Amino acid sequence: DYDHVLEALLNTSVDVDSLEPDSVLEEKWIKEVVTRSGMKFKWAKLSVSRQKPNRDAHRRPPADPSNLVPRPPVVTIMGHVDHGKTTLLDSLRKSQIASSEAGGITQHIGAFLVQLPTGEKITFLDTPGHAAFSSMRARGADGTDIIILVVAADDGVMNQTVESIQHAKRAKVPIIVAVNKCDRPQADPHRVKQELLAHDVVCEDFGGDVQSIHVSALKGDNLLALAEATVALAEVLELKAEPSGPMEGVIIESRTDKGKGPVTTAIVQRGTLKKGCVLVAGKSWAKVRLLFDENGQTVTGAGPGVAVEVVGWKELPSAGEVILEVESEQRAREVVEWRSSEEEQQKLQEEQNAIELKKRTHLQEYHRERAELSHLSWRQRKVALYQAYKTKVSKRSSERVQDEQLTLPLIIKSDVDGSLEALLKVVDSYDAQHQCELEVVHFGIGDISENDVNMAETFAGSIYGFNVTASRPVQLMAAKRGVPLNLHSIIYKLIDQLKDELSSKLPPLV
Ligand code: GDP
Repeated sequence: DYDHVLEALLNTSVDVDSLEPDSVLEEKWIKEVVTRSGMKFKWAKLSVSRQKPNRDAHRRPPADPSNLVPRPPVVTIMGHVDHGKTTLLDSLRKSQIASSEAGGITQHIGAFLVQLPTGEKITFLDTPGHAAFSSMRARGADGTDIIILVVAADDGVMNQTVESIQHAKRAKVPIIVAVNKCDRPQADPHRVKQELLAHDVVCEDFGGDVQSIHVSALKGDNLLALAEATVALAEVLELKAEPSGPMEGVIIESRTDKGKGPVTTAIVQRGTLKKGCVLVAGKSWAKVRLLFDENGQTVTGAGPGVAVEVVGWKELPSAGEVILEVESEQRAREVVEWRSSEEEQQKLQEEQNAIELKKRTHLQEYHRERAELSHLSWRQRKVALYQAYKTKVSKRSSERVQDEQLTLPLIIKSDVDGSLEALLKVVDSYDAQHQCELEVVHFGIGDISENDVNMAETFAGSIYGFNVTASRPVQLMAAKRGVPLNLHSIIYKLIDQLKDELSSKLPPLV
């Protein structure tokens, strides 16, 4: 299990450098460890190297169990369209069991708190459907403890009912079934529960452990029983959190308010959110100016399991983003800056990967062509290669700008066949092990000619000559057109220079 291993890692300070991404762990997985552990790493291919630690804000290690206190469960209502999710949320909000301070008009902040006569509290997310839930999951935040699955008793299990079940299973969130519309004459709750069996949701009536409550969201029937079932399940789940220490939470909604500016609704998961706290979420930060509950009342603080509207963000963070409290504004700015540059780096890395891939494909193509030509004499090869190259270049002329830094077109001239063939062999073996593609555009015997310079200019390549010369006019022409002209009479010097030119074409090492 991801989180368990993560916690183990955080507690045992494993040397992340020693992890092998390709054999043992996914790269993504390690990145997660790295981000959460708060150490900065630079990614170079699949190897990791340690950088300055602790620049990022990170979740704290698990709390000491003795500091934990019970917290309200956070509940998401899911189910098929028209089965009554919105109606259920409305009735829960308006029912006597909803928090009594009301007086004001209920505001939509994305969640509301319900208090049972016995004092227990439940936080309901009131964005029905899967959007909020999925966005949180996508960011790895576990914002929901319990899912209430609404199934209309007159309609039974439908597509989105099944989808909701799958969501719950994937996220390992337990379900309570609310069999809705039981006021309707056609209602058949038993059938609903029977249909659920096919999806491994076994209700208590069938000997399973999933609670099912018959309700009428419209009439408000049995809502207390539904709330009690939720509280009972919460007790079984032993939902607890630390009320002190730096706050951690998750954003369930974010919007720009005309008067308040960027506002978000946060569910506190750990610690207590108070006025004046400095928070970081994604790439934005906040100094909390005001906190509001769902009744539009200002509150001074919100503890674990409670949703609250936060005012004071510099920019609008996204729903699903994790919120962490940091010690100072200075630190918040640092974290945001670092995260932005990290994202920038990731983008660069992705671009780099795309280029690498393209390069590899080209290289494979190139080697395949060469292999195909291997049965030919080198003279025949020369003609064939040149032809192939010309076609390829014309095909790729639109990509030319990008390709230039990845390939090194060469024109090779030599005094005799023997040395020319030796040079070609070196080039052949050389580009097999290097990232830059060497492409011999043209080769031949004899001094460098005007035609060689023309060719080099066309292909943006370099001329290498071994034991040959270039007349003064040819040298001038090359200089004027910016064509590198390299003449050598010692073969290893020529190769050294070729290597230098090659490495200058390679992208800088990350
Ligand atoms: P949602 O799409 O799941 O949010 O469903 P809605 O809450 O919008 O409800 C769809 C329709 O079913 C509306 O016309 C509701 O009035 C009706 N409805 C919801 N709950 C009940 C119920 O318990 N009994 C009856 N008779 N109708 C209901």
